[in-house]
Amino acid sequence: MIADRHHAVHVSTGDIFRTAVKKRTALGLEAKRYMDRGQLVPDATVIGIVEERLAEPDAERGFVLDGFPRTVDQAQALEAIAQRRGQSIAPVINLLVPHEDVVKRLSGRRVCRECGAMYHLILAPPTNAGLCNRCNGELYQRDDDHEDTILARLDVYTRQTDPLVQHYRSRGVLTEVDGTGQQDAVANRIAAVLDGRGQ
Ligand code: AMP
Repeated sequence: MIADRHHAVHVSTGDIFRTAVKKRTALGLEAKRYMDRGQLVPDATVIGIVEERLAEPDAERGFVLDGFPRTVDQAQALEAIAQRRGQSIAPVINLLVPHEDVVKRLSGRRVCRECGAMYHLILAPPTNAGLCNRCNGELYQRDDDHEDTILARLDVYTRQTDPLVQHYRSRGVLTEVDGTGQQDAVANRIAAVLDGRGQ
C-alpha cells in the first residue's frame, strides 16, 4: 500500500528468497535451510541481494524496504549503500504490535500462490474460501507461519532485530507507529509520518 501511494518499488527480501526457493536456485537452497527454522539468512547473502536489487533501474524512483534490515550489520551496510547513492535512510518506522497479535496475524495469514496477495482467515478473509479475490489463484499457508516457527521467529526478532530500534533512535530518524488495527488504519498512520503530518 505504501509503495503504491508513493509510486515506489516494494522490495521484500522474504519475497526474493521465496521466489528463489520456488525456482530451486543456489540462493533458494541456501535460504531455505534458514527460513524453515525461522532463522535469519546470513548477513552477507542478504546484503548482496539487496544491493543487486536496488541497482535495478526501477529502484531509481524510490523503494520501500520490507523485511530489511533485520540486524545492526545489515543496517550499517544499508547506510553505506545509501551513501554511495547520495541518499539517506529516513524515516525509519517501527510498527508496534503486541507479540500475541503477531501470532494471531501470522497463523491466520494466507497468501495467493499466483499474485502474492495476502489474506487472513478471520481479519481479512477472501470472498471465496481458499481463492484469491484478485486473480482466483490458490491461497496457501507459508511453512514458517505455523505456530512453532512463528515463536522461533519472534525469539530471533527479540535477539537480533530489536537492537535496531535503539540504533535508529540514537540517530534521530525513528518514529514509532501503532501497528494494531485494520490494514487501512495502519497504512494511514504510516502515510501521516511519511507526509510529515505526525501520526
Ligand atoms: P519475511 O517474508 O520478511 O517474513 O521473511 C521470511 C524469512 O526470510 C525470514 O524468516 C528469514 O529466514 C528470511 N529473511 C528475509 N529477510 C531477511 C533479512 N533481512 N535477513 C535475514 N533473513 C531474512
